Amino acid sequence: ELLNGTRERQRSLRDERGRARDALKSLIQRMLAEIGELGQHTDRFQNSVGRYAEAIEQADSLESLAGTVREMVEESRSVQALVSQTQERLTLEHDKASELTKKVAELEDELRRLSSEVQTDQLTQIANRRGLIAAFATEQAKAERESGSASQIALALLDIDNFKKLNDSLGHAAGDMALKSLAERVSQMLRPGDMVARYGGEEFVLMLPNTPIDEAQQVLQRLQRALSASLFIHEGKDVFVTFSAGVTLYRAGETLEAALDRADVALYEAKHTGKNKACVAP
Ligand code: GH3
Ligand code: MG
Ligand code: MG
Repeated sequence: ELLNGTRERQRSLRDERGRARDALKSLIQRMLAEIGELGQHTDRFQNSVGRYAEAIEQADSLESLAGTVREMVEESRSVQALVSQTQERLTLEHDKASELTKKVAELEDELRRLSSEVQTDQLTQIANRRGLIAAFATEQAKAERESGSASQIALALLDIDNFKKLNDSLGHAAGDMALKSLAERVSQMLRPGDMVARYGGEEFVLMLPNTPIDEAQQVLQRLQRALSASLFIHEGKDVFVTFSAGVTLYRAGETLEAALDRADVALYEAKHTGKNKACVAP
């Protein structure tokens, strides 16, 4: 329901942004047309001035001189009025254009905020499944343009060991705390281009772009070592958590799900051969 509400809001924000952009565009067109029209008038006036100068030069009577001067004054008055009218209108339109530009920027901010909200797990504040899918699509496109190790994306599926026991013995709130602390510790240890996402209840996915499989395995070992220190303190006692993992390399052309299914098979192996370890998918 929350997601539907957000999608609805995103749709209406996008529509509103589209309308604000169109209004801005047509306003700018109108301003250009007005400037063009003004240019035509002032060009014509410039030509007239040349003609008046000639007529004055050649005037042989006071009457014809007065007539030319009268015409000249009238025309320059009307051009002046036109210039000041257009100037006023352009000032107003410029204000309106600034307002619309500000509105478009605000709507874009709101859209960005909403999209990061729906892609973030509320408990751990790391990416959720949707966030992972979006980030993976970006990495996949990048990898397709690369070759060699730069085109390799390592994916690991992590599952906390005996988490049900932790929940049962320390309570659900401590379980939540474990999820939060684990997400934080893993995030701190990753390189800037890497990502950890909460994939499900107590399952996480690591996405390591530009990483060969043996390096990925080393990353997991490093994380597992880091968890040999207590994760957090609950009612005065250290709480330790371990995880098992399956790791695989993404194969060009397959889906993210296909790669994660392979990692899941390796995770199953890790669970059934003693836990607290990482197995590589064949
Ligand atoms: P294994 O070592 O085989 O993975 O055993 P496990 O107990 O970790 O696995 P199991 O799948 O049996 O239990 C997972 C537990 O994770 C059950 C579920 O209640 C708990 N869990 C899932 N999401 C949350 C959450 O958001 N908060 C808390 N506190 N617990 C959660
Ligand atoms: Mg599980
Ligand atoms: Mg588990």
